[in-house]
Amino acid sequence: MEKSQLIEELRLILGAEKVLTDEEAVLEAGKDYIGFRIYERTDGKNFAPRAACVVKPANTEEVSKVMKFLNENKIDAVPRTGGSSVTQSIEPVPGGVIIDGSAMNEILKIDEINMTVTVRCGTPLEYLENVLNEKGYSAGHFPQSLPMAHIGGLVATRSIGQFSTLYGGIEDLVVGLEAVLADGEIIRVKNVPRRSCGPDLRHLFIGSEGMLGFITEVTVKIFKYRPEERWLQAYAVKDMQTGLDMIRAIMSDGYKPAVVRLHDTAEVQLLLKLEDAVPPEHALLMFIADGPASVAKATGAAIEEYAAQFGVTGLGEKPVLSWLKTRNDECYHMERRGYHAMGLVVDTCEISAEWSEIGGVYSAVIKRLSEEIEYLAYAGGHASHSYMQGTNIYFTFAFLARNVELVKDDYMRVVGVILEETLKRGGSIAHHHGSGKYRTSWMPREHGTSYPLLYKLKDALDPNHILNKGVLLSEVSLRETSAETCPKAGRFQNAPPDFFRVQVDKE
Ligand SMILES: Cc1cc2nc3c(=O)[nH]c(=O)nc-3n(C[C@H](O)[C@H](O)[C@H](O)COP(=O)(O)OP(=O)(O)OC[C@H]3O[C@@H](n4cnc5c(N)ncnc54)[C@H](O)[C@@H]3O)c2cc1C
Repeated sequence: MEKSQLIEELRLILGAEKVLTDEEAVLEAGKDYIGFRIYERTDGKNFAPRAACVVKPANTEEVSKVMKFLNENKIDAVPRTGGSSVTQSIEPVPGGVIIDGSAMNEILKIDEINMTVTVRCGTPLEYLENVLNEKGYSAGHFPQSLPMAHIGGLVATRSIGQFSTLYGGIEDLVVGLEAVLADGEIIRVKNVPRRSCGPDLRHLFIGSEGMLGFITEVTVKIFKYRPEERWLQAYAVKDMQTGLDMIRAIMSDGYKPAVVRLHDTAEVQLLLKLEDAVPPEHALLMFIADGPASVAKATGAAIEEYAAQFGVTGLGEKPVLSWLKTRNDECYHMERRGYHAMGLVVDTCEISAEWSEIGGVYSAVIKRLSEEIEYLAYAGGHASHSYMQGTNIYFTFAFLARNVELVKDDYMRVVGVILEETLKRGGSIAHHHGSGKYRTSWMPREHGTSYPLLYKLKDALDPNHILNKGVLLSEVSLRETSAETCPKAGRFQNAPPDFFRVQVDKE
């Protein structure tokens, strides 16, 4: 369909004011915050593909009408809400349509009996948290992008917050949801505390990155808000492995501090700027215990005992208070002009692995980056989301961009080291930012023999493959391809059970 006709038809469905065609608005809506794209933009170039237009539906029925039309005409569509993606996940297919849910911004019901809140997908998380706080509640979800992200995107990416050790990730918080499928069908998964009626259908959408449907409404849990009853404390640790061992002991014994963070020396100096508060060459461990005062106090007392046992040095509350104050500042400096003036690309990459492997991932990555990446300026990392079974490492890095043409390849070399070392040790290559479009080629190795299931789900829920092409799946459908027509996709069809393991070993 011609672009002009597409825009005309969408105007007829939604009204002209909900179809944006202005060059700047269209570019802005498909722009995310992955490091090399920020570099391109500050260098005056923007290689990101452009959509034909952006539509801003006001309610579920309008989303449904738009999706039905796009599906019937096989037109590509990318859902977005807050636009804080860092994985190229909202970059459109050229000539496609961005469905922007940010106008669907409404708190529908705060249910104090059942401890839930129901919101439309475009509700900003920070606004929701502020409204809940005024009533004595919290959503318990504190990603660093709190000032930027909206509920739809937070659910679609399987996001996680800084207080996750107590509250969990978004998958632990979503009670029910409403979504629109590619053909316009509206479905709802009702709110219940738990059920045993087949697979959990919420999970078709939690983490689906906009490729299985458009999330229109979400019900999440709420918690009592008691920041004044908190316990907090920081410790200096002689190395990362000692810090990881102490966290493992605390977690596996069943304690649930809300915040558990272990930053390496590089981050203490360059990221947190706490070099005066932490002894040289030491890592920094920070804890916050939340909940009713008695629980927070007991958790704190237990952590003090582990600290004595592991011989770590108490640093008081100050480093934690400093982190609490500055923790979301990054959101206000996203274009990072200071770094780019120096020709630096700055970004992060978060992975997870079991306790037995995570220390190995961390040390191998830091060693390889410093040995192999000749243009590397800095590499560091922290663990910030811990479980009984393991933890994440959020690698932070900066490199000197050679020029704008090479910046993506140079970026992928850095990220490639992190992902390879993680896969070698059986970890996951995306702890909470999602696959987006830049990690898609790694997904077969991430998912192994279960990867074809994702293609089957895609074929069932979005048979014309209009939704967010390129995230999680390469662009071809298993059903439609054979080894002859598309060796890459066809090879999965009759893959022997050890196919994926063999691939990993070979590479
Ligand atoms: C400074 C900074 C800090 C960050 N910190 C964290 C962090 O601590 N924890 C964390 O988890 N993430 C973090 N992120 C990443 C990002 O904020 C999250 O991925 C967030 O969940 C994205 O929400 P959004 O509303 O901005 O989604 P968008 O960027 O608009 O979209 C993200 C993805 O979700 C899909 N999507 C959006 N809305 C819908 C919808 N209604 N229906 C279906 N699919 C949809 C899109 O297609 C895309 O695939 C950070 C990002 C930045 C820039």
